[in-house]
Amino acid sequence: MSRDRTVERLDHAATTVRTAIGAVCRQLQAAADAVAVLPEAGRRQAADQLVARGLASEIRIGAGVTAGQRDCATPVAGGAATAIVARAHQADVTVSAAQRLDVEFVNRLAASSGAAVTLLAGDGPGAGAALSSEPEPVSRRVAAALPGDGAGRGQQSVRGVPAEPGQPLPLAVSVANSDPTSLYAFLIFGVVIVAVVAVLVARRLARSTTRPLEELAWAVGKVADGELGTRVPVGRGDEIGRLAGTFNRMTRELQAYVQALTASRDQLRGHLAILGDTLSSTHDLHRILQVILQTALSATGARAGIVLLLDPVDGRLVARCAEGLTGRWDVPEADLPTLRLTPGAGILGAVAASGEPRRGVRGPGAGVLEEPACRSYVAVPICAPATVGDPLVPGDALAGGQPATLGVLALYDRLGGDEFDDPDLLTLRTFAGQAGVAVHNVRVHEEAQRLSLTDPLTGLWNYRYLRESLRREVERASRFGRMLTVLVLDLDHFKDVNDTYGHAAGDTVLGEFARRIRIGLREVDVAFRQGGEEFVVLLPETDAYGGVIVAERLGAAVREIPVPIDPRRQDSSTGQPVDRVAISVSIGIAVYPEHGTTAQQVLDAADDALYAAKNAGRDTYRLAETVPLPAAGVPDATVSTGVPEGQFDHVTGTDVAAPGASGGPQPPRQGRGR
Ligand code: GH3
Ligand code: MG
Ligand code: MG
Repeated sequence: MSRDRTVERLDHAATTVRTAIGAVCRQLQAAADAVAVLPEAGRRQAADQLVARGLASEIRIGAGVTAGQRDCATPVAGGAATAIVARAHQADVTVSAAQRLDVEFVNRLAASSGAAVTLLAGDGPGAGAALSSEPEPVSRRVAAALPGDGAGRGQQSVRGVPAEPGQPLPLAVSVANSDPTSLYAFLIFGVVIVAVVAVLVARRLARSTTRPLEELAWAVGKVADGELGTRVPVGRGDEIGRLAGTFNRMTRELQAYVQALTASRDQLRGHLAILGDTLSSTHDLHRILQVILQTALSATGARAGIVLLLDPVDGRLVARCAEGLTGRWDVPEADLPTLRLTPGAGILGAVAASGEPRRGVRGPGAGVLEEPACRSYVAVPICAPATVGDPLVPGDALAGGQPATLGVLALYDRLGGDEFDDPDLLTLRTFAGQAGVAVHNVRVHEEAQRLSLTDPLTGLWNYRYLRESLRREVERASRFGRMLTVLVLDLDHFKDVNDTYGHAAGDTVLGEFARRIRIGLREVDVAFRQGGEEFVVLLPETDAYGGVIVAERLGAAVREIPVPIDPRRQDSSTGQPVDRVAISVSIGIAVYPEHGTTAQQVLDAADDALYAAKNAGRDTYRLAETVPLPAAGVPDATVSTGVPEGQFDHVTGTDVAAPGASGGPQPPRQGRGR
């Protein structure tokens, strides 16, 4: 295709050059003819005019063809042509008109043909270039070697145009090879290279952008799966690098936060486990309250806290356990009960009085006397579980459906400085509920215990507890080498009281008798109703002498003031209304280890002594008799053998008879009789 185009261009150039030179030849022929036909005289002048008008570069009259000139009509091969010439013959003259061949002429030919034109110096092989429009003329040899339709000479295609009649010049035309294939190939190659480079650059750009994003997406997925230790490489200063850095910081903080949460959850779990164990396994109220307070502190992150319970006796709030308090509230655990508040006063008092929780922030120094110094506080009431008909919950406390307030649970200074919020309040109410149930349960338990061990008529401990206490006290006295005195008391002629004034009056007398026993004893002494109108008193760390003193005191307390009874009662025998009954008591006294080495022996010895007192006329006491154990080998060991005979002045109680077996001051062995 491109080759055809080159041939076409060469054809066109050759034809144009031939035509142009032909036209020059005809113009020269016309000029020569015009001069030749003129008369001789005017020829020279005409010739000059034609030259002047540019129709020929030279017109000669009467001259033949000179060397270097090529005749248009009959071209001949020769050396380098310098001009082309046309001749006109008349009878007398030959006129030749010539056109000089120069670079300008060749250039005009080239311009009109559109190809480079080279005048060849000759037609034969080896003819060189005479004139050329090209800087590098096409050699004759090359032109001759070329086929007629021209061929590529590197980047050029050349066509030789031989001399012929009408065109006397051997020449060559040449055009630049249009070789689009290689150009196209080059272009395509260039385009491909550019495309490949563009693709590579685009890929690299895309990878450099998407790869970090892929890593980020992968890391986000890992974090979503719970792997909070996942990190992505940062290593870039652009937006993606900053995103990666922020992601790493976020996961780091998330991880730290989760670790802190896990630690506090574990701590809380531990506290809750302890709380569960404590609630289910003990009735130790102090321990329960302590664990509840610690768990509440841990659950809310508070610095300090306190639990106060209402004292059922004086109705004041008493501190029962505390953590982290400062100032005057920082007291040893044993002194906590000295911290007492009046319900209604201060925040704690207000919560106890109203049963409404409170939370807030306190200014410095506000009400430091009423409650612990703090910045923020939350206080909730400890309420008994609302059970209608529960004898342990005061009736008025349940009025209006409000459960009874048993105390207050308060926390101070949440860590981090924030105010306690509603969730904290809710949490604390849960713990206060636990505390309420615990306090209630412990009190129910204590009451049940008390009921099972006490006598409902007199409020004294019952026979069951007597046996346990006596055994325990004997054991303790034995271990520490101490003495223990046992009194057995029996009302005299009590049956008569019942018979005369009725059973109810008898009950009243029994109750009053028990009361007088109780108030006549020390803190450490314990009184029991053994059954019917028989009572027992244990006097720890007391010898016979002390026992006698107590017996005398109790006898006097009973004897001296008649017991008031319902005035509507009347003496069944006389029919007279009676409002008081005179009573008396007989008392038997035995001492451990003097009168017995076991609980039962001591009790039996006291019973025997009581029997002796009854026999002696009642309203008196008797001390058990002691005798050495024959086979015990221990000189001081004694057992009771009943009551001694003949004995003491029962009026004065003075020791007038045989001394007891034990050393030291000897007590009177009998009390006053009737
Ligand atoms: P003594 O001086 O010998 O002790 O004579 P006594 O009448 O006190 O002795 P006795 O054992 O014969 O009578 C005891 C009476 O106590 C018999 C019983 O009716 C009465 N009694 C026992 N328990 C109660 C009680 O809970 N309430 C009343 N009202 N009487 C009781
Ligand atoms: Mg009696
Ligand atoms: Mg009796």
